Order: sequence, then C-alpha cells, then structure tokens
Amino acid sequence: ANVSHELRTPLTSVQGFVEAMLDGTVEGEEDKSIYLNIIHQETIRLNRLIHDLLDLASMESGKTSWEINAVDVSELISRVVAKLQPQLKRRLLTVKREIPVDLPLLLANEDRAEQVLTNLIGNAVQFSPEGQSITIEVQTGQGEITISVVDCGPGIAEDELPYIWERFHRVDKSRSRALGGTGLGLAITKQIIEAHGGRVGVRSEPGRGSVFSFTLPGEKPE
Ligand code: ADP
Repeated sequence: ANVSHELRTPLTSVQGFVEAMLDGTVEGEEDKSIYLNIIHQETIRLNRLIHDLLDLASMESGKTSWEINAVDVSELISRVVAKLQPQLKRRLLTVKREIPVDLPLLLANEDRAEQVLTNLIGNAVQFSPEGQSITIEVQTGQGEITISVVDCGPGIAEDELPYIWERFHRVDKSRSRALGGTGLGLAITKQIIEAHGGRVGVRSEPGRGSVFSFTLPGEKPE
C-alpha cells in the first residue's frame, strides 16, 4: 500500500498536467513550459523511486554479494564531497573534516560505501540552513571505523528517531517531496551497512542539528 501510494502521487500529477495540456486548458508557451518542467521533474522522481525500490528488494532477497575492498576513507570522503560540490555551492555550505592520521583502511564494498556516504552528506546538505557548515568526523577503535556526518539542520524529535530508518518515513512529508526525496535513502543506507555486518546510528535534537553515523570494520594492521 505504501509503495503504490508513493508511485501514484507523481503519476497522478503527470496525468493531470498532460490532460490539461491535451484539452487546451493550458495556453501560452510560458505555461506549457512550466507544465512540462513539472512533468519532467515528476518522471525523474518516479525513476529514482523505482530504482531505489528495486535496489532495496534485491538487497532484502539476500542474493546480493559484494566484493569487499580496502577503502581509503579520506579519498572516499573527498570523492563524495567533490560530487556534491554543486549543491554545496548553491547553498553556500562548507565542509569541515576531522580525520585522524594513520587511519586504517575501511573494509567494505567501495561503491556501496560511497552510496551510503552520499546519502548521509546529501541529506545534511538538504537539511542545512544556507551558509552553515557540515562536519565529517572519523573515529577508530577496536578494529572499527565510524564515520559521522554532523549538520546544523532542524534536528529530529526524539519520538521520530526510532522510525527514521524505515522506508518512506519522513518527518515532514511535503518538505521531503519538495526537496525531491524518495524517503528510501536511510532505509537503503541501513540495509547496506547491516549487510556488511556494521551498524548505523543517529543522534539528534530539535533545533540543534543531527549526527548520522555508520560503523564498519577496518583493516587489521599487519
Ligand atoms: P528523503 O531524504 O528522501 O526524504 P531519507 O530516507 O534519506 O529520505 O530520510 C528520511 C527522513 O529523515 C527525511 O524525510 C527527513 O525527515 C529525515 N532526515 C534525514 N536526514 C536528516 C537530517 N540530516 N536532518 C533532519 N532530518 C533528516
């Protein structure tokens, strides 16, 4: 029921706009272009939703097996930050890094680790007020590496926190949709990390920002 609702919302919107264009309700090139733009955005969202749903389903089926790589965490962070540069610039956000020297390599599938970090930093970008900073902290201990993404966004109420990793759970549905969210990013993040034998975490307080983190094994020193 959840999934069909999520798919129907953009589809109904596309149908409505196409019908308005077909029956001649929309006149003028400017209005047409606005309508086409909305249709385009909705189809992009539909595509992303279907892609994310299939990704989750294939992970849940337990049939996915990933090659485990030894990942340089600093390089991984730099790559993700570089990829998000346009969004960071647009919102005048800066990124601070707190990464210890002599960090062991992270043991994870490199593409999936990048996907997780992109989700978390992407959320931090979306929820941060303009001009603020996002901090990426890395800690090690007991053969594990924890990567945390700290933002100065609105934060999340305590009673919402246990549900935040569930698919389609959004604190503010209309805002999330307006920002182009599918409501699946954190569910995918949790699934990927737990499939690696790791764990995810969140700490947050309304008005004081959020800290989203994940912990994975590090390579043992020889
Ligand atoms: P989406 O961002 O596509 O809506 P996610 O699964 O990534 O879906 O996140 C689910 C919800 O968790 C978001 O809609 C938002 O309500 C909340 N959330 C996620 N990250 C943050 C954050 N950094 N600050 C505040 N709320 C967040």
